[in-house]
Amino acid sequence: MDAAPATDGRRTREWGDLLVVADGAYELRHRSDRGVPRSDLSARDPASFRGFVRSDDDGRYRPFAGERSLPTGWVLSDLDGRELLRAVAAVYPAAVEEWADDADPVPYREVAARQTGIYERVSNLSREQLIDVTEAVCGNCAKRREWDERAGDALPVDRGEGPLPCREPCSFLVAAAREVLVDEPPEEQPPEQPAADVPPGDLTDPANRYRVRYRRAGGTHTTTHR
Ligand code: SF4
Repeated sequence: MDAAPATDGRRTREWGDLLVVADGAYELRHRSDRGVPRSDLSARDPASFRGFVRSDDDGRYRPFAGERSLPTGWVLSDLDGRELLRAVAAVYPAAVEEWADDADPVPYREVAARQTGIYERVSNLSREQLIDVTEAVCGNCAKRREWDERAGDALPVDRGEGPLPCREPCSFLVAAAREVLVDEPPEEQPPEQPAADVPPGDLTDPANRYRVRYRRAGGTHTTTHR
């Protein structure tokens, strides 16, 4: 990670939605909890941390690691370097390695061509559909998108910012790409708001937050049947 700026006598670094504090030992918390007294945060056990960060503040399963739904209000304290890396990897698996490798991004069309079985169809996604699904999914991710539709052919979608690179479309993006190629029942008016009781990972439900985000992005393109 980059050199950290000094803040209230301690050195800090944001890493996605995490805040690393270096003060002799390391401390980890949600970046939105910057400035909150440690005593006001819930101390987490590193041994159960990986399971803890898989759910959001409302207890819903988080469908991809970068989703901007990391729970808040917790702290991991007195970590050594190894424990810090293990905790960071629990939240963003392989992100430190991807950042250090600085590998070339893999474009969407290349990832789509690799898919088999029910995911083969994602090669049929039009450029317009790809733009909208990228906006819907990557627009709610803590990573900075480096991939495009094809090498040298930038998608007109905000890449996000921050130190965590995303070098190729993740499995959730691919799953969402498959789902937007499926017709919604024509007799049903799709909901305008996501339903709180629909899991973020249930892409089959028209009230799923990513399907609503896709429609808002303009996703009204021609679809095919399952
Ligand atoms: S493809 Fe998009 S949603 Fe998936 S990890 Fe990369 S930036 Fe995040």
